[in-house]
Amino acid sequence: MRMSQTIIKPLKDAPKDADTTNHRLLVQAGFVRQLMAGVYTYLPLGLKVLNKISQVVREEMDKVGGQEILMPMLHPAEIWKKTGGWDNIDVLFKIQSRTGKDCALGQSQEEVVTPLMREFIKSYRDLPTSIYHIQWKFRDELRSKSGILRGREFLMKDMYSWHETEKDFEDYYKKVKEAYLKVFKRLGLIAKVTEASGGSFTDKVSYEFMVLTDAGEDDILYCPDCDFCVNIGIAKVKAGDTCPACKKEKLLKDRASEVGNVFDLGYKYSKDFNLQYTDEKGERRYPVMGCYGIGISRTMGTLVEKFSDEKGILWPKIVSPFRIHLVSLGEETLMAEKLYKQLLGVTEVLWDDRKVSAGTKFADADLIGCPLRVVVSEKSLKEGGVEVKNRSEDKIKIVTTKGLLKMLQ
Ligand code: ATP
Ligand code: MG
Repeated sequence: MRMSQTIIKPLKDAPKDADTTNHRLLVQAGFVRQLMAGVYTYLPLGLKVLNKISQVVREEMDKVGGQEILMPMLHPAEIWKKTGGWDNIDVLFKIQSRTGKDCALGQSQEEVVTPLMREFIKSYRDLPTSIYHIQWKFRDELRSKSGILRGREFLMKDMYSWHETEKDFEDYYKKVKEAYLKVFKRLGLIAKVTEASGGSFTDKVSYEFMVLTDAGEDDILYCPDCDFCVNIGIAKVKAGDTCPACKKEKLLKDRASEVGNVFDLGYKYSKDFNLQYTDEKGERRYPVMGCYGIGISRTMGTLVEKFSDEKGILWPKIVSPFRIHLVSLGEETLMAEKLYKQLLGVTEVLWDDRKVSAGTKFADADLIGCPLRVVVSEKSLKEGGVEVKNRSEDKIKIVTTKGLLKMLQ
């Protein structure tokens, strides 16, 4: 993209109302705009990141057999009344049509996907199966703060699976847990896995995927040596206790952000919506159901919390809106345009072709945080090429254009 022709316009100053790093930097660098508390517009840069995170999630869900669909956000009240959610879920947004019909905005999709699957799960031959979608969710959160970490409208990947036996479900559950760890690793995040109670609708165990950050809203206890990790809200241990798993190290306490979780839903929704299949003996049975969420927009906010410095964001390459931030200085537009076109052939490039000072261009490149900055100027050309700098380093290298193109391929 040629910056002069876009609405990519980083701000000189940080927004005054920002209480977290992700809110401050995402607004200032031009990734998002807040419409009201917990509700954001994703601008070109922000949408690119959101889509890249979604793509990584999509690839890993596809690998564990997830089939992607897209379910609606607007739901009839009846399905929510059937499961008790209409009266029991305090964050459920309720609205009325002009003819007086009660509706809800999806805060999750069990109520939509379970009756849908009645059409497709008829016999044991149709199991196991799993369905997911990446869709906006609405929750009437009382305290929508921390930028995009807690929205009242936010992007979530939610997957649902159905199984003949508890055993089959357990196996799949473990597979998805591994897939989740892969997702977060690919995104550059280390997720710790806590075992937690499944909330109000089931007494089954669930896993929460936590990334350490002060901007998070959960407190966890974990062992620095092994995988032991629990959410403090349910924990029987405390900070400083010897790890009950490896018995080697003392437990540490830290703030974390819950970026994902997986739940055992048991038979709750299968029974509510009378989803049954015929087993091998010809008997009618309810399938075991699981659900698996990842907060896509929260993950984006968490990435900013983890990867930033005093100058701006440092996106991991895999989710960066562009791989290269091309800066042209002075009168070198022809040369820059040629290079821009060549680079476009191999990667994604944001070209700062604006008529602003070098200082502004460099500051904005740091703020936006693409991994590689390439500068074309009279000086760089005299020295034999372009200046290349990693966002995370101070060192500047002079590279020939040919060398740069080769490096990128
Ligand atoms: P939390 O405890 O943070 O409210 P939750 O347990 O209600 O989360 P789920 O209903 O399981 O979360 O949703 C799945 C995932 O969606 C969460 O792990 C989180 O990453 C994300 N998520 C949940 N609520 C929000 C929100 N208000 N804003 C942004 N992301 C959210
Ligand atoms: Mg919640």
